[in-house]
Amino acid sequence: MPIKTSDEYIDSIRQLKRKIYCMGERVESSVDHPLMRPSLDAAALTYELAHDPEHKELLTAKSTLTGDTVNRFTHIVHSKEDLTKKVKMLRLMGQKTGVCFQRCAGLDAMNAVYSSTYDIDQKQGTEYHKRFRNFLTRVQQEDMIVDAAMTDPKGDRSLSPGQQADPDLFLHIVEERKEGIVVRGAKAHQTGALNSHEILVMPTMALKEEDKQYAVMFAVPADTEGIVYIYGRQPSDLRSLDTGDGSDIDKGNPKYGGQEALIVFDDIFVPRDRIFMMHECEFVGPLVERFACYHRMSYGGCKVGVGDTIIGATASIAEYNGTEKVSHIKEKIVEMTYLNELMYAAGLSAASEAAPLPSGAYWVDPVLANVCKLSVTELPFQIARIAQDVAGGAMVTIPSGKDLHSPEVGHLVEKYFKGVDGVPTRDRLKILRYIENACLGRGALAYLTESVHGAGSPQAQRVMIRRFSNIEHKKRLVRDIVGID
Ligand SMILES: Cc1cc2nc3c(=O)[nH]c(=O)nc-3n(C[C@H](O)[C@H](O)[C@H](O)COP(=O)(O)OP(=O)(O)OC[C@H]3O[C@@H](n4cnc5c(N)ncnc54)[C@H](O)[C@@H]3O)c2cc1C
Repeated sequence: MPIKTSDEYIDSIRQLKRKIYCMGERVESSVDHPLMRPSLDAAALTYELAHDPEHKELLTAKSTLTGDTVNRFTHIVHSKEDLTKKVKMLRLMGQKTGVCFQRCAGLDAMNAVYSSTYDIDQKQGTEYHKRFRNFLTRVQQEDMIVDAAMTDPKGDRSLSPGQQADPDLFLHIVEERKEGIVVRGAKAHQTGALNSHEILVMPTMALKEEDKQYAVMFAVPADTEGIVYIYGRQPSDLRSLDTGDGSDIDKGNPKYGGQEALIVFDDIFVPRDRIFMMHECEFVGPLVERFACYHRMSYGGCKVGVGDTIIGATASIAEYNGTEKVSHIKEKIVEMTYLNELMYAAGLSAASEAAPLPSGAYWVDPVLANVCKLSVTELPFQIARIAQDVAGGAMVTIPSGKDLHSPEVGHLVEKYFKGVDGVPTRDRLKILRYIENACLGRGALAYLTESVHGAGSPQAQRVMIRRFSNIEHKKRLVRDIVGID
């Protein structure tokens, strides 16, 4: 069965030889780096649960390419059920990690590239789809993580790629050879970049003919010589470097984290059989739309799962503070649940209204997928606000977990940060720190800022809702009812 165990996955990442920089220093191994390890462990859980008897139904699927059972994070969706299971899987992963587990962007990118290459070949007689199927078969057989590299640095947002003062601010082809192409540029905010085996590069936005050097799609192994990774800082990330008694409390989420990096392609050669688009500008817009919609639906799974943990933390702190029976607190936890399930409902509905594309793969309902993501740009902030309200100010003023272990003041922390009798102070501090992490710290990067910008900023969703919602049809409906020709 081509499904790696989590240990095999971690070993496979350890074997990659890459040029990584973090806080001004070269990093030899991302696997053993304390800032990066929590994100690797979150990604590794996508392997572990695929072997777990309780969850493997959700975490695996039958490949339409090979007929093998593969990890669902490499599966091309061919039914509404596939899409529904994807949302459920992402919620489960959010519940188990409380962070971004970094594997869904690659899954969504592969789905978008699959159907887009099919469409290009149908119209242009190219062989991109065959190449992509070969690539995908390897990804499935070797159970790889694929980085979805779409976002360019973009420089001056008011200018197109070719108008930029520096042409490299959008990744582009700089040389064409018989055996392949040479590309230059960078991809920003790359989730799970250092936990990936392959990088799947796509253009970031619709392009005009004059920008055809930017219309390029390809995959390269993550350890391709010349690629440089520059690791992104995260709020309160240095807590991951803490060791010793009490440091697990201070981390908030002591097990897992997310990860982003800038990936720089400084004249990287891409062999022809790894190129999935080259100059076909008219297909870039639809490709970006497809990826965006798949990914916008995904947020109705992963962020809802993380939301479940925040609701759980809020209910726990209410219990530990002695407020759980107070009516407004009960109401607030209902409110959190209502908001969280709204996002889930939108994600599931985008799956249930999906339809097949010419390639046979299914695409989500674009309006519902965008409604889902637009709600995710707002509702987690309301959920996080309630969590902070219910938690009380202690979530940002409690001393370090190390003070709890101090021979001098440990007994004072124990005494003065106690909530209800019978609950250890240590447990109360852990929950307060979890809420702090999720709403203000390292976790908030994924729960809040990624909810706004990941898969496109809010305005991008409004634009697509406008485009796909068929307002003319709605006008006709009312004119029929009132009798206007
Ligand atoms: C945590 C996180 C993880 C991410 N992971 C990935 C990933 O794995 N892969 C990937 O490819 N990308 C990833 N992204 C990138 C994400 O898709 C972008 O952040 C998003 O598309 C917005 O782009 P930007 O950050 O450059 O912001 P900008 O594009 O600068 O947007 C900032 C604001 O300016 C507005 N704006 C910008 N340009 C224009 C314009 N021309 N006209 C009108 N308004 C404009 C936007 O609407 C927005 O309000 C991630 C982002 C985050 C925050």
